[in-house]
Amino acid sequence: MEKELKHTRSHALFQEAQQLMPGGVNSPVRAFRGVGGEPVFIDHAEGPYLYDVDGNRYLDFVQSWGPMILGFGYPSVLQAVIEASKRGFSFGAPTEAESELAKLVMEFVPSVEMIRFVNSGTEATMSALRVARAFTGRSKIVKFTGCYHGHADMLLVQAGSGVATLGLPDSPGVPAETTANTLTVPYNDSEAVKELFKLYPAEIAAVIVEPVAANMGLVLPQPGFLETLRELTSQHGALLIFDEVMTGFRVALGGMQQRVGIRPDLTCFGKIIGGGMPVGAYGGRKDIMQVVAPIGPMYQAGTLSGNPLAMAAGIATLKELRKPGQYEALERKSLLLGEGLERALRNTRVEAQVVRIGAMFCLYFTSEPVTDYASAKRANTDRFSRYFWEMLAAGYYLPPSQFEACFISLAQEDVMLEEAARTAEHVLRKLA
Ligand SMILES: *Cc1c(COP(=O)(O)O)cnc(C)c1O
Repeated sequence: MEKELKHTRSHALFQEAQQLMPGGVNSPVRAFRGVGGEPVFIDHAEGPYLYDVDGNRYLDFVQSWGPMILGFGYPSVLQAVIEASKRGFSFGAPTEAESELAKLVMEFVPSVEMIRFVNSGTEATMSALRVARAFTGRSKIVKFTGCYHGHADMLLVQAGSGVATLGLPDSPGVPAETTANTLTVPYNDSEAVKELFKLYPAEIAAVIVEPVAANMGLVLPQPGFLETLRELTSQHGALLIFDEVMTGFRVALGGMQQRVGIRPDLTCFGKIIGGGMPVGAYGGRKDIMQVVAPIGPMYQAGTLSGNPLAMAAGIATLKELRKPGQYEALERKSLLLGEGLERALRNTRVEAQVVRIGAMFCLYFTSEPVTDYASAKRANTDRFSRYFWEMLAAGYYLPPSQFEACFISLAQEDVMLEEAARTAEHVLRKLA
């Protein structure tokens, strides 16, 4: 189980990359700063495994931060992308594939009556908020501390993992005026939201929320929290936006809104919707979506939006997920690993807890309940880092930060997850 992995080539590539790109990466968390060390460079992936440039193999719990729920190189997805690429990479003109993906999303998520495809989750949330402001004629938005909705200026306030890991309160380069209309309250704090609506009864355009907060580790909504948001927004003529970029097609085919039975006004998608290709989307009530150009006055556009290769990957992925039994399988796998980790914690007496929902989980190194960002931050990040590096050395690729969620995929076989739990126990024993 314990072998020293060689990272010679990763190290050399990272040295070079740091001269070329800030921190050697194109998205901060990839630099492994949250765990102190150097990233491994990936050569290729297959099924549930990543292979790095030094020939090491890892069971992957990052899954490109969410999209790869079927595992890598899934035959029908691969075939769909190959076929689409032969017909042309991009036309900048309508294609049938866009309607096909739109219909699939609407079939799974009935609150979506009209949809617009974009290229990332960031674009989806940014655009959804523009829609909300255009539709309501109001300016203020409410977000929750520790929720991440992409890196649009107005949303880069108390924004969770990536920012949290670096310890930046906010980002320089975001003028105060840009975030002046962003009101922030703790996750799960219904009373604080009530107070905001008392203060600004007719000024709040929208409340945007991750229906499961997956960018500060994994924080579940407490009973009544999302329901209260639905009531308050309806009462005050504000819109409720579910950011399901992470939870969409992961905690259920119909996302978290299906699990809790709440119909948001707008929903944002990303990650799984593109099956590993750059896709995001926002959609919801038809009367609201009709403010979007060209039928409405709210401008939003994209040269590569609805890209045929990306649509093909998304369609093929969602069609696989629609097959009977998929979410039951994910839930079973997730439970198997979750129970294995809990057993490991009991046996080793390490102060930690497993939070789990659908095909996502987080091992927090704290025994106090985690309900919001403040309580998540009490986790022992030094202990997490040691756990992370030991797990990596044993062939398990976890997100390199305590404040990121881990993912289960359909490509992970039960025996692999059982072995992962056994390895975790061995590692935890060293940390105890
Ligand atoms: C990842 C994520 C985003 C941003 O998506 P990008 O594609 O990285 O721009 C937005 N919201 C949530 C909840 C996310 O997890």
